[in-house]
Amino acid sequence: GLSAESYRHQHEITVSGDDIPTPFTTFESTGFPSEILREVHHAGFSAPTPIQAQTWPIALQGRDIVAIAKTGSGKTLGYLMPGFVHLKRCRNNSQMGPTVLVLAPTRELATQIQDEAVKFGRSSRISCTCLYGGAPKGPQLRDLDRGADIVVATPGRLNDILEMRRISLRQVSYLVLDEADRMLDMGFEPQIRKIVKEVPARRQTLMYTATWPKEVRKIAADLLVNPVQVNIGSIDE
Ligand code: ADP
Ligand code: MG
Repeated sequence: GLSAESYRHQHEITVSGDDIPTPFTTFESTGFPSEILREVHHAGFSAPTPIQAQTWPIALQGRDIVAIAKTGSGKTLGYLMPGFVHLKRCRNNSQMGPTVLVLAPTRELATQIQDEAVKFGRSSRISCTCLYGGAPKGPQLRDLDRGADIVVATPGRLNDILEMRRISLRQVSYLVLDEADRMLDMGFEPQIRKIVKEVPARRQTLMYTATWPKEVRKIAADLLVNPVQVNIGSIDE
């Protein structure tokens, strides 16, 4: 409709794909569970950021997404909030492995994502474990054994733990690749491909990237099914 078009125009959002839903311009219009909206209110946020407004309704439809947006645009909650809703719908046993898997390039980033998941998922009783290199495996393995709905991991460490057979990804049905361009620049493509082989094909996949070079387009074409593409601002190739 016209209001969707004017919101997109105003916020430099471009979309491609079939039947793109109207952006959620307010938190109330998201239909998120009240315990999540309470956390948003608590954080003092006044409105969804443009990437959130446009990707939330698409993600809630269960569709794959490629989102191209610069840092600081609110991508983390962009995928975490629909991930929380997905978890509520699945009601899997976290002892059997995570339902939501987020891959991120660095320890620092993975930790920030976990902090956001803990903060906004607390009242929904969502558990989250973070796996990254440059730290002993013991405490991370013990955390995993307690069960985690969400695992946030760097590809190298997750692959090590997979090879030790200390985690199962058979229950993952919501897969996020955050900062995909940086992960590829850091040489993580082989680990990412090995990890994705362990995740069932019947899943929702969301990929976030700041740039859109051919290496990223290639892995998106391999891992995503009929994705909706959402760009905020201009595209750097
Ligand atoms: P990106 O991953 O795009 O770089 P982040 O997800 O790290 O961005 O978000 C940047 C900051 O904006 C974080 O501190 C986050 O808590 C905050 N933020 C996220 N969504 C909103 C919102 N709707 N309103 C205000 N601040 C937000
Ligand atoms: Mg980010």
